[in-house]
Amino acid sequence: MYWEKDLETLDRKELERRQLEQINWTIRQARNSSFYSGLKINRIDSLEAIQDLPLTTKEDLRNQFPYGFLAVDRERVIRLHSSSGTTGKPTVVFHTREDIDRWQNLIARSMYAVGVRKNDVFQNIMGYGLFTGGIGFHYGAELLGVMTIPIGPGNSKRQIWFLKHLRTSVVHILPSYALRLYTFFDELNIDPKKDLNLKIALIGAEPHSNEIRKKIEELYGIKAYNSYGLSEMCGPGVAFECTQQAGLHVWEDHFYPEIIDPDSMQVLPEGEEGELVLTTLSREAMPIIRYRTRDLTSLIPGNCPCGRTHRRISRIKGRNDDMLIINGVNIFPIQIERTVMAIPEIGNNYLIEIRKKDYMDKLLLKVEVNEQVFQGTLSELEKLQRKIIVELREELDLTPEVKLVESASLPVSDGKAKRVYDFR
Ligand code: ADP
Ligand code: ZN
Repeated sequence: MYWEKDLETLDRKELERRQLEQINWTIRQARNSSFYSGLKINRIDSLEAIQDLPLTTKEDLRNQFPYGFLAVDRERVIRLHSSSGTTGKPTVVFHTREDIDRWQNLIARSMYAVGVRKNDVFQNIMGYGLFTGGIGFHYGAELLGVMTIPIGPGNSKRQIWFLKHLRTSVVHILPSYALRLYTFFDELNIDPKKDLNLKIALIGAEPHSNEIRKKIEELYGIKAYNSYGLSEMCGPGVAFECTQQAGLHVWEDHFYPEIIDPDSMQVLPEGEEGELVLTTLSREAMPIIRYRTRDLTSLIPGNCPCGRTHRRISRIKGRNDDMLIINGVNIFPIQIERTVMAIPEIGNNYLIEIRKKDYMDKLLLKVEVNEQVFQGTLSELEKLQRKIIVELREELDLTPEVKLVESASLPVSDGKAKRVYDFR
């Protein structure tokens, strides 16, 4: 049942003993880099004492571009990756061969955990290149021994052709693209539930609500599992849902998670929502201590029924900087998504625009609606529009404008979805 049962179900005491050892190894290793060379603390004696170590930010990574965090000889580096730069200047991350081996293994572990096996056919619909999503899964899947189709994103008709004719059973795909791809099946006269052999989608790399996940599962008749990672840690393979779909296990033999209050920087107890902070435990080329991911989540208390002992984080709510302040009200885009996507008539995409009008903030939500609904009467459409406004008002405490648009009419980007346009 397990790829690495001994490690994944390690007794917590023993896991924590190893974590402490690895943090101290990481401190020593990190000192080889110019950024951490002046670190005042040599070692810590308990896991709690990690709080005495300074936090590291994305800004630090940018300022040290390119080699300030490098902790091995340049000759030992075999690969670099770069963040997709969703939020400004990119940062680079280096890997030795052993770092790459460990990363591949974590991907293989994650895929195996949700039931991917050698006889599967894996279509990797994530971007290859500097972005970690494509290449990361590619090598992990090959290590697992799965036939891998390195197709990358885009060209929807070709995707569907491969899905159908190669009997693809597993895809790795952005949730926003999974929804867009669905709109192409009709035209091709293919029923994804009947005509495909698809069973599992590994979705991640961008925030998405449970409602979006369910929608993907229902449209395709498959299981969709949440994959979390960031290039600063390696890429995907940091945390992964198991088949319980009740939170994502952080692979704690390689990453040490903490949740902090983003304002006071104090560590928060289990169950409380805050910013995820991660420390690499095994990385040679570029160890990072207490990295502020800016992703908001919480550590889930209690054990997972699957038997894995590595702690779980809850679905990512978004980044700190995703928060919108609309006339003084704090809103996360994912709240809007959750509300809207729970309404059955709603289609597969939406977009949020914010403008200033007469000194007030105005939020306009454009939502795609199902084909049948769009062809319906005007009064049906008006009824739906009112329903969305009422539900959003309840959730958000403000009254948005809502515009219903045709299926597949809103723009989609090649990479991670951009759904918020703030014109203020
Ligand atoms: P960038 O920071 O430029 O987007 P990365 O490709 O490293 O570059 O993206 C990592 C970020 O993507 C994470 O910090 C997080 O915000 C987001 N992310 C990754 N996986 C998920 C997921 N499963 N759910 C929500 N957000 C995710
Ligand atoms: Zn589990």
